[in-house]
Amino acid sequence: MQTKSLLPIQTPSEFTNWGKTIISHPKVVVKPTTVDDLISIMKAPQTYPAPVRAIGSNHSTTQCAVADGGTVVDMTAFDKIIEIGTDTVTAQAGALYIDVAHALREKGLQFFVNVELGNLSIGSAACGGTKDASMPGEFGQVCSYAISLKMVTPQGELIEIDETQPELLRVARSSYGLFGIVYEVKFRVRPARPMTLRHKVYTLDEFTQALPKLIARPDSEQESMMLYLFPFLNEIAVEFRKYKDAGKTSGSKLWDLRNWTWKTLAPGLGYILTNTIPLKGLRYALVDWFNEKVQLVMERVLKSRSGTSAADQIIRYPDESSWTKYTFSIWAFPEEKYPEIVRAYFDFCCNYYIQHGYRCNMLNVAYRILKDDSSLFSYSSSGSVMTLDPVSTGDPGWADFITAYNEFCSNLGGVPLFNQTRGITPEQARNAFGTRLQEFESYRKKYDPTNRLLNQYFRERLGVEAAAVAD
Ligand SMILES: Cc1cc2nc3c(=O)[nH]c(=O)nc-3n(C[C@H](O)[C@H](O)[C@H](O)COP(=O)(O)OP(=O)(O)OC[C@H]3O[C@@H](n4cnc5c(N)ncnc54)[C@H](O)[C@@H]3O)c2cc1C
Repeated sequence: MQTKSLLPIQTPSEFTNWGKTIISHPKVVVKPTTVDDLISIMKAPQTYPAPVRAIGSNHSTTQCAVADGGTVVDMTAFDKIIEIGTDTVTAQAGALYIDVAHALREKGLQFFVNVELGNLSIGSAACGGTKDASMPGEFGQVCSYAISLKMVTPQGELIEIDETQPELLRVARSSYGLFGIVYEVKFRVRPARPMTLRHKVYTLDEFTQALPKLIARPDSEQESMMLYLFPFLNEIAVEFRKYKDAGKTSGSKLWDLRNWTWKTLAPGLGYILTNTIPLKGLRYALVDWFNEKVQLVMERVLKSRSGTSAADQIIRYPDESSWTKYTFSIWAFPEEKYPEIVRAYFDFCCNYYIQHGYRCNMLNVAYRILKDDSSLFSYSSSGSVMTLDPVSTGDPGWADFITAYNEFCSNLGGVPLFNQTRGITPEQARNAFGTRLQEFESYRKKYDPTNRLLNQYFRERLGVEAAAVAD
């Protein structure tokens, strides 16, 4: 058994995710550069103790990638785009989504799902949860378009899971590195098309009345819907997008403005106001004033009928987070129940503020994501969903707010994401996924019988017995 690492390793006293909201204590952090390195890591449990957790950009807001006492495998050196075909792209697991999206654009192609987080790594995108408002007739989860995953198993063997094994592929798309470390992925992609953009601001009442009609529009009139929720203004701004059949793209400056507001201005302002204005009435009056102005700009300026490029909406965040970082959470709900759920959520936020003096110092967003059973832990497997996503700088009070929000969402039958919904309890995971947890476990046990890749977070949420622990 190997006892000395051939790779440079770090032994940090503390390790954090990108947003510095999750602090953990791995024994070893290692950055492999080749598949042989990955095999060596898997085969040397003395040097690389369990749990072994791969990370991409480490942006997840939950403990899904935590390896307390174990090994963090930093996959960022696997950053090559291997091949762009006519309707596929193959890339290494540590390549960033934004880099691949820009390479696709040069070939007249694009991803189906263009998530806002450009730092999303290809490996995480293929085997974890993601979301973006579904474009008409398309899925809103990136993994649904992953058609081949190459992995190194805990035994150090190379496997490929692809469309020839559809059921296995469906489970692997939700495997979060618990079957093996993904080193290469092939995604199906589509021809790039100009994407129109418009915003409309509704009152809560107007929106709840309009929603069923918006959903029921004929296919030719369908648009994607991302929502900006303002519980304290009783308003909802909707970002509508759809593709045109042909034409040139323009309007990258519109996305630059939107992305800068999202990435820097809104979190920066939230941070400054929270840290300089102790008087909450004044602080949140200014947050609301800012949100009003943002809505005006959205409706009047952020629109393009000629069509923008979907790749321009993807944001590159700095490698290291700064004071303008933000955090968020998410639960998904059946869209037919959304009018009553969003109304209840507005009440929940206002009541929580009255009772506990805490509210988000940014905004809330939401996505409409179409029915999608392509992955086992899909949050829209039984029908189209809409989400509730509070967003804040993670200021004091956020963690307690999230605990109450999780209870609120779980009680309303919501479905969480293991990498994006912070603080879910094992019971909430059981309520949301039911027998899907056992189904996953039956596969996981085959790939990882000694639980080498299993951390405490997944052990508890998947309901794995504590007995079988790897060395
Ligand atoms: C500011 C910000 C904005 C965001 N915006 C969006 C958004 O618009 N849409 C969206 O969907 N999400 C968004 N997210 C969430 C983010 O996409 C997910 O948390 C995603 O998993 C992060 O990718 P990552 O590469 O950092 O994964 P990590 O956090 O590094 O890993 C996520 C999970 O995948 C596993 N994993 C990672 N790499 C591998 C691999 N090579 N092999 C096997 N397992 C692996 C990890 O062990 C972990 O369980 C945002 C997050 C932040 C902080």
